Amino acid sequence: MQVIRTVAELRSWSRTLRASGGNTLGLVPTMGALHAGHASLIRAARASSTLVAVSLFVNPTQFGPSEDYGRYPRAFEADCALAAAEGADVLFAPTVEELYPNGPDSTFVEVPALSDRLDGQSRPGHFRGVATVVAKLFIAAEPDRAFFGQKDAAQVAVLRRMTADLLLATEIVVCPIVRDVDGLALSSRNAYLTTAQRGQALTLSRAVRHVESLVAEGERRASVLIASAHGVFAAEPEVRIDYIALIDAATLEPVDTAIPGTLFAVAARVGQTRLIDNAILG
Ligand code: AMP
Repeated sequence: MQVIRTVAELRSWSRTLRASGGNTLGLVPTMGALHAGHASLIRAARASSTLVAVSLFVNPTQFGPSEDYGRYPRAFEADCALAAAEGADVLFAPTVEELYPNGPDSTFVEVPALSDRLDGQSRPGHFRGVATVVAKLFIAAEPDRAFFGQKDAAQVAVLRRMTADLLLATEIVVCPIVRDVDGLALSSRNAYLTTAQRGQALTLSRAVRHVESLVAEGERRASVLIASAHGVFAAEPEVRIDYIALIDAATLEPVDTAIPGTLFAVAARVGQTRLIDNAILG
C-alpha cells in the first residue's frame, strides 16, 4: 500500500491507472482511528472496484469551536496496518494546508436544504465542513464510487444531495452499521468512554432495537414510536438526548407515519461524548 500526501500525486495516480483501461476507483473517506466499521467499507470498495483508496483526514471544518478536533483519536500506524490488511492500494493522508491551500474559510460547499437538520442542528456548520471536504476528495481522486456508513445517516443524505446537485459522477454506496457484540455501533469516539459510560451508551442501540421491534409488531405512528424511545432513555438518566427523530431518509423531514425506508435516528451525549445510532425501518 502506497501512502500519498499530496493532491497532485493522488490525482496523477488515479488518472494514470484509470486511463490504462478497465480500472475503477473506490474511495473510502475516513477521519482515521479505523475500526471494523471502516474495514467493512474498505472491503465493500475492494469487492466492487479494481483500485481502492482510503483517505485519512481529521477535517477541521466539520468540528465546532468547542468540539473535540484537538483530541480526536489519531492512530496513523495502526490505520496504515488496517487499511493495508483490508487491501487498500493507497492511503491518502494530506495535511490541512494541502486540502485547504487558502485556509479553511476560503471556499465551501453547503447543502442548505438539509444542513441544519438532525446533527446539523446541534452541530452548526458540521455538514458544510463534511460536504466541503468530500467534494474536495471527489475532485482530487475522481473516484467511480465512494463508500460511506449508514451509521452517519444524515451525512449520507447530505452527500447524496450534494452529489446530485453538483452533477458529480461519483456513485455513493452506503454500507450497513457495524456493531460490537453487545449492539453498540462502532465509532472512533467510543474510545472516549469509561467502562461505566460504555454501558450507558448501549441505551442508543437499545432504543433503536425497541423501535424496530414495535414497527415489526405493526406500530407505525411516529408519536408512539418516539415516545417509546424516550421511555428507553428515561431508564438511563446519565444519557442526555440530543434528538430522537423519525424522518424521511432523503429529505430528513419528520414524518407522522413510518413506512418501509423511513429512518429512525437518535443522538445523545454520554459524559462529553456525543454518539449517534439509527435504523432504516422495514
Ligand atoms: P469517520 O472516520 O467517523 O468519519 O467515518 C468514516 C466512514 O466510516 C463514514 O462513512 C462513517 O459512516 C463510516 N462508519 C463509521 N462507523 C461505522 C460503523 N460502525 N459501521 C459502518 N460504517 C461506519
